[in-house]
Amino acid sequence: MTPASALDDIRARIAAAARGVGRDPASIRLVAVSKTFGADAIEPVIRAGQRDFGENRVQEAQAKWPALQTAHPGIRLHLIGPLQSNKAADAVALFDAIHSIDREKIARALAAEIAKQGRAPELYIQVNTGEEPQKAGVMPADLAALVTLCRDTLGLAISGLMCIPPVDEEPAVHFAFLQKLARDHGLVRLSMGMSDDFEPAVELGSTDVRVGSAIFGAR
Ligand SMILES: *Cc1c(COP(=O)(O)O)cnc(C)c1O
Repeated sequence: MTPASALDDIRARIAAAARGVGRDPASIRLVAVSKTFGADAIEPVIRAGQRDFGENRVQEAQAKWPALQTAHPGIRLHLIGPLQSNKAADAVALFDAIHSIDREKIARALAAEIAKQGRAPELYIQVNTGEEPQKAGVMPADLAALVTLCRDTLGLAISGLMCIPPVDEEPAVHFAFLQKLARDHGLVRLSMGMSDDFEPAVELGSTDVRVGSAIFGAR
């Protein structure tokens, strides 16, 4: 399958999953995860109409996206990987959405850069729904405090929550949990669902599915 036909196929599957639960397909944003792929692989996907792209490393994105953005106006870049506070300035300068806030230090660094640069990327808090020791994301028990810090102390507009379910568990359980946590905190967006599980994610309210290998092929 070419990237363009893969994209059509995924869009159709997102729309079908959405309609199946009475959701408007237009309310779901497809983020094409282009990490590890170069401009030659990305350009056909842009030409096929895709505008939202996800990267998991700031430095990699800095190396390949500015030229592509100049050539193709209207690209929106999403940072979906862990962020170090010494990269906060670069991240705020380059990305339109940051899905991976998971601790106070990052929230503070982003707030300072957002004020300094006058940019307003969409912000998501990543939750470690499986409570896996090696995984990024705030523990569910610590989410309320982080939301309060971001909103009330730092004045950050948090759009929603993000999760990456454990590989060996039923993803729908984690998507339902993230949906509940978002409701509890009055957050409207849910960044959840990847190549293997975006349909159940859409059924459970995902607004941002992050799909890489199903579009670009194996990494
Ligand atoms: C790589 C990655 C994806 C995409 O994964 P695929 O299985 O290739 O669709 C989604 N989200 C995050 C956070 C990732 O790092």
